[in-house]
Amino acid sequence: MPKINLNRTPMPKQEAEKRASSFQEVAIGYTLDMAKAEASRCLQCPKRPCVGGCPVNISIPDFVKSIVEGDLARSIAKIKEANSLPGICGRVCPQESQCEAQCVMAKKGASVAIGRLERYVADWERTQGITMPSLPAPSHKKVGIVGCGPAGLTAAASLARRGHQVTIFEALHSPGGVLVYGIPEFRLPKTIVQGEVNFVRSLGVELKLDWVVGKTITIDELFGEGYKAIFVGTGAGRPQFLGVPGENLGGIFSANEFLVRINLMKSYLFPSYDTPLTVGKRVVVVGGGNVAMDAARCAKRLGAEVTVVYRRSEAELPARREEVENAQEEGIIFRLLTNPVAFHPNAQGKVQTVECMEMELGEPDASGRRRPIEKKGSNFRLEVDTVVSAVGTIPNPLIPQSTPDLKITSHGTVTADDKTGRTSKAGVWAGGDVVSGAATVISAMGAGKLAAADIDLFLRS
Ligand code: FAD
Ligand code: SF4
Ligand code: SF4
Repeated sequence: MPKINLNRTPMPKQEAEKRASSFQEVAIGYTLDMAKAEASRCLQCPKRPCVGGCPVNISIPDFVKSIVEGDLARSIAKIKEANSLPGICGRVCPQESQCEAQCVMAKKGASVAIGRLERYVADWERTQGITMPSLPAPSHKKVGIVGCGPAGLTAAASLARRGHQVTIFEALHSPGGVLVYGIPEFRLPKTIVQGEVNFVRSLGVELKLDWVVGKTITIDELFGEGYKAIFVGTGAGRPQFLGVPGENLGGIFSANEFLVRINLMKSYLFPSYDTPLTVGKRVVVVGGGNVAMDAARCAKRLGAEVTVVYRRSEAELPARREEVENAQEEGIIFRLLTNPVAFHPNAQGKVQTVECMEMELGEPDASGRRRPIEKKGSNFRLEVDTVVSAVGTIPNPLIPQSTPDLKITSHGTVTADDKTGRTSKAGVWAGGDVVSGAATVISAMGAGKLAAADIDLFLRS
């Protein structure tokens, strides 16, 4: 038996210096030889622990084996039995804490690079033309999906593949949710999202854009139009703020607004696209999650010197390790154990300085992470032109406000059963960030898939 390489095949990526001023995708992707080399590290474990780490349960050993055998058509077919969005997941899934965390190779050396292989096969399929799965006879049962993010798209695809008549209602003019308005082009090119949304549509799913459910039409009105079941996957797109003095000054953005302008409205292509965005020379991004890293790396690409201000230490940064490293390589400055306590204006009322305090870590809090404590008298100021606040989001209250019998928690998330997605209102299911609070693409997809299975049972009963 040939000796197994304990190290994973590195992912080629653009040089840090070049990419720090470009919105082109950072990771370049494997070649066929690289993909085969990486796939051949898989031990084909009979117990398949990696599959249990994937919220949509892709048959990982099978799709990986097909790569080794050079049968890429079979490989993508295996993936798509469980996942309609493989090019997206292969790029942005937190694989290191999902499928790859369960891979036995991690105990011997490095886990098999499952996400990179999934991406490779999805990209290969795009160059070949998408193969359609066979669909069952139509059930003629209408299902409405509210929100076209990963949760809604996955629920829609799963239901369409079971023969139901599915319509997605999306508030924005573009489908994809955070995949199009939040995650930047250099991590997830929008052609990939568009391609995978088109695949879902090709299953027979109808897409109604610019439909704000709760305003344009309510959930009860949808029932009146013959929908037998509704899945709510409206995400958690409402920004939270620090609640410190000066937060309403000009030049201070929520990360959502900042990223929507850049990604959805394509301000980085101004004047070809009509959304100008001037960030100035110095940008401070507050927060330490994926959203903060994306905002910081976008600001860097718009030409600013960027500082990330985060109140805990590097070990507690919630962003994916890979994205923190990418940000560091691109020259983003990290002021850790630092917290903004006020924003101060210039004569025109625009933010000029961020007043911060140094922090130290105390005992763990309810989240299990060590609680940051202000160091008395450590105040200092950072000069800025723009501030981006990335300190969390919660669901928009529009759906619960317009659907009185839909129960919500004290955090504003919709209450739903975690095995089925059933809500307190008969005929309504929910999943993704609107239930869990801000989480991940794959957890939203897992919730969409679970709910679709339960909706199918309901429609057949
Ligand atoms: P969303 O993606 O938010 O989609 C909800 C959709 O519903 C939106 O299109 C919205 O317009 C629509 N909608 C809302 N209200 C209504 C209404 N009333 N009527 C009709 N439509 C409505 N996760 C990862 O796994 N990896 C990452 O690298 C990563 N990076 C991220 C970077 C950023 C900047 C952000 C913001 C998030 C990131 N996440 C990442 C988190 C991930 O994107 C979300 O967890 C995921 O998108 C949630 O999916 P969802 O379908 O529940 O909601
Ligand atoms: Fe892993 Fe995500 Fe792919 Fe599942 S979808 S196999 S968790 S990368
Ligand atoms: Fe292959 Fe790792 Fe899954 Fe084992 S756990 S089958 S080595 S991917």
